[in-house]
Amino acid sequence: MPLLEVKDLRVNYRVYEGTLKVLNGVNISLEKGEKVGIIGESACGKTTTVKSVMRLLASNAKIAGGEVRYAGEDVLTMAKGRLRDLRRKKMSMIFQDPSAALNPVFTIRQQLYDIIKFSADTRLSKEETHEGALKYLKEAALPEPERILDSYPFQLSGGMKQRVSIAMALVSANELLIADEPGTSLDVTIEDQIMRLLKKIVEEKEISVILITHALGTVKNFVDRIYVMYAGTIVEEGPTKEVFNNPQHPYTQMLIKAVPKLTGGGVPEGILGQVPSYLTPPSGCRFVTRCPYRMEVCDQVPRMYKAGTDQKAACFLYDEGHRSK
Ligand code: SF4
Repeated sequence: MPLLEVKDLRVNYRVYEGTLKVLNGVNISLEKGEKVGIIGESACGKTTTVKSVMRLLASNAKIAGGEVRYAGEDVLTMAKGRLRDLRRKKMSMIFQDPSAALNPVFTIRQQLYDIIKFSADTRLSKEETHEGALKYLKEAALPEPERILDSYPFQLSGGMKQRVSIAMALVSANELLIADEPGTSLDVTIEDQIMRLLKKIVEEKEISVILITHALGTVKNFVDRIYVMYAGTIVEEGPTKEVFNNPQHPYTQMLIKAVPKLTGGGVPEGILGQVPSYLTPPSGCRFVTRCPYRMEVCDQVPRMYKAGTDQKAACFLYDEGHRSK
């Protein structure tokens, strides 16, 4: 049984203009100890997918269908007490902006102590709580832990704040860690340090990971498997190496071509057109408005077809009856 299974997940948002049909049947699975990445342009539904897993969606969001199963249990319908247990002991999330994730009016000591006490099975003494805090700060490679504990978030650099967020997430993420663009708000050298640290920690502790990013270079060296998202749908999935070396879905091919290369080769090609509006998305393949291979059948929703060596792609080009490439 997979550790996590997202099946045909549909999420809508109510806004002033109407209903945004954001997630349109997302399927993802994650085995114990596996590291998977979700890539795609901004606003393609990556964060909505993982927030659904954590049941942290905004109040204007509505699950319109589908399931999220954690070790077989349905997260979307489970009782609040059981969900609290999962968040206490099994899974946690690192957010994009550490400044927004940390409470500015409490010291790191107050915030980290609270999380450690919340996750403990028994009442901890002050010394035990402190020892736990030092342990997690050490795991997140933070020097001078006593100074960090006495600091308010504004007294720490961006990289240090993100390391503190990692330390806090590690308290509860004994099985699953969701990292939502953990380096995006940092400069590139600090982002690289944070990603290396995160990889080392999850491999040592054998924690399963979902890494969300639009930085393709970052995800390439981190995860075992990739899901490519476009406009609220998974368009391709497969082993990381195959997806990068031999992308199958037209969107993945264009996305990878759009990445600038340090080795030169001229200006990268952009992807013409825009992501469709979620108010009135295309009723069939959501990539139809930008796809150079579109056919009549693309007015229907493509299922996942076997494509390439080990990939699957949601595209009629891989349906025997419609292949014309
Ligand atoms: Fe293009 Fe059609 Fe494939 Fe969609 S299903 S990516 S429109 S060829």
